[in-house]
Amino acid sequence: MSDKPICKSRRDAVKVMLGTAAAVPVINLVGFGTARAEVPANAVTEDDPTAVALKYHRDAAQSERVAAARPGLPPEEQHCENCQFMLPDQGAGEWRGCSLFPGKLINLNGWCASWTLRAG
Ligand code: SF4
Repeated sequence: MSDKPICKSRRDAVKVMLGTAAAVPVINLVGFGTARAEVPANAVTEDDPTAVALKYHRDAAQSERVAAARPGLPPEEQHCENCQFMLPDQGAGEWRGCSLFPGKLINLNGWCASWTLRAG
């Protein structure tokens, strides 16, 4: 048996490992940058005192909307996008203003205990 195929195999394995090692940080940077870009700096955080008091969650499915049973729509259809307090002219994309969180942005897919069906 010759060492050549093994050497070639080792060389290939080292190349793959080096390529992977180089690619992982790049992938992490891209992923990290994307995640940061998706959430605005002034987004309401779930440890915000008002958010805690109102039980706000940026993902309505993770909120207490079923237990709250607010009138107007079935709980599974309640989210910030169809709430009276959402300010459509503030923010962009899925991040918008809310009368109850001045200067901050809520997620249109969120929910809080003050949810009220938007008129019209
Ligand atoms: S008041 Fe309405 S728009 Fe504002 S966080 Fe609560 S559910 Fe969302």
